[in-house]
Amino acid sequence: MEDCIFCKIINKEIPSNIVYEDDEILAFRDIHPVAPIHVLVIPKKHITSLVELEKEDEAIIGKIYGAINKIATQEGILEKGFRVIVNCGEDGGQEVKHLHFHLLGGKKMGPKIA
Ligand code: 5GP
Ligand code: ZN
Repeated sequence: MEDCIFCKIINKEIPSNIVYEDDEILAFRDIHPVAPIHVLVIPKKHITSLVELEKEDEAIIGKIYGAINKIATQEGILEKGFRVIVNCGEDGGQEVKHLHFHLLGGKKMGPKIA
């Protein structure tokens, strides 16, 4: 989608530090990490947010969690654990309007999620 920063990252128009890629999914390091490991995992299809999810998109969500597992293994955080966050819409604090999963790890997360 034009003017979408994550679509530009997918198309390699904007450089990023890619940690995982397959036909349907891209994962790259967040430019402003809030944990020692902070990876954004996104579908290559432009889906604006969880609100815009269509029936046909449900399979990709499962695949994204599969990719998260692989990335957590690669990053060496599978055993100690990690946190996955999806911000959705204004109240959820979503800034980039292309569905993305934050994978956070490498430190003990705080007890608060809000
Ligand atoms: P949101 O607040 O929408 O859930 O998260 C968007 C995330 O994208 C933020 O953590 C922000 O640091 C990250 N981000 C925004 N622009 C870029 C970029 O151009 N490159 C990378 N690697 N991350 C970005
Ligand atoms: Zn996009």
